[in-house]
Amino acid sequence: MDQPTPGFQLRFPTGMAPVACVDIGGTKVALTIADASGIRGKWSEPTVKVGASDALAQQVIRMIEQGCAQCDMTKEVLGTVGVVSCGPFVLQGGMVELAAPNICGGIAGKARGLPNDWTTALLEVPLRRAFANVRIENDGVGALEAERRWGALQGLDHCAYVTWSTGIGVGVCVDGRALRGKNGNAGHWGHSFVSDDRDALCGCGNTGDVEALIAGNAMARRFASLGFSDAAQLFAAARQGRADALEIVDGLCYVMGRLLFNLMATLDVQRISIGGSVFWHQQDLLLPRLRAQIGSKLPALTSGVEIVPAGLGESVGDYAALALVL
Ligand SMILES: [Zn+2]
Repeated sequence: MDQPTPGFQLRFPTGMAPVACVDIGGTKVALTIADASGIRGKWSEPTVKVGASDALAQQVIRMIEQGCAQCDMTKEVLGTVGVVSCGPFVLQGGMVELAAPNICGGIAGKARGLPNDWTTALLEVPLRRAFANVRIENDGVGALEAERRWGALQGLDHCAYVTWSTGIGVGVCVDGRALRGKNGNAGHWGHSFVSDDRDALCGCGNTGDVEALIAGNAMARRFASLGFSDAAQLFAAARQGRADALEIVDGLCYVMGRLLFNLMATLDVQRISIGGSVFWHQQDLLLPRLRAQIGSKLPALTSGVEIVPAGLGESVGDYAALALVL
């Protein structure tokens, strides 16, 4: 695994039982197996979105079994299976199922174009049948914990992590405690409403929320008719100084800037770190624009609040699941 910051060294407790760490996203499922000697292996596959509603859980189980086999161990020796996943979660009999807009096609319906009609994807019940110890958290909570332990939020009691990626996710910590909520869904600011734009249908079924307006998966849907078939093309044009592309990028930062301001206004945080593939590859373009959106608005709440790139860089997701099991 890449060492994200100079001097950063992940230490595993002596005698630690092997652990399997899984990151379920709308695009891929990533697995890391580690033990006291360190990282034993990493694998990733596109997220399964076809078949029965337990198909994703079966993919996770198969990946862990195959990973264990490649590490010359059986799944029975695993101490814990830690899973971070995009949400929201719903609880059925106390067990987590995913109602994730980027995975479950039955939520927003055919207009969203996902190849299934799942309203939820089973997760915890199949995993607990397969493994002795399972811990599942919203990926925003896992990423926040990783950033607090090893990244840009170390030593802070009031902070937030924001991912700007395929979707938009947030993890928040107030008074030294990561917020979870009744179903583990605290931090779904990506689904907060910010406009009435009819061209912005979110996978959650709502129109005009942050994720529908600015997430990686929203850009092709919204800007293809303007000549930008995906985020990469849009940002490339902005870098060439094209006024139409820069205007769109400013619009994206206007929306994300409001989300950041609202986090400061509601939670009184000291620092917000940002990661995710959209942000990470364009941070030189986006970070100054996001800071400008906060500007000097309501200084009593915003002055001195830092907006910084994630300390764990592109590896936040990998460390998020590790943070659950270490
Ligand atoms: Zn939404």
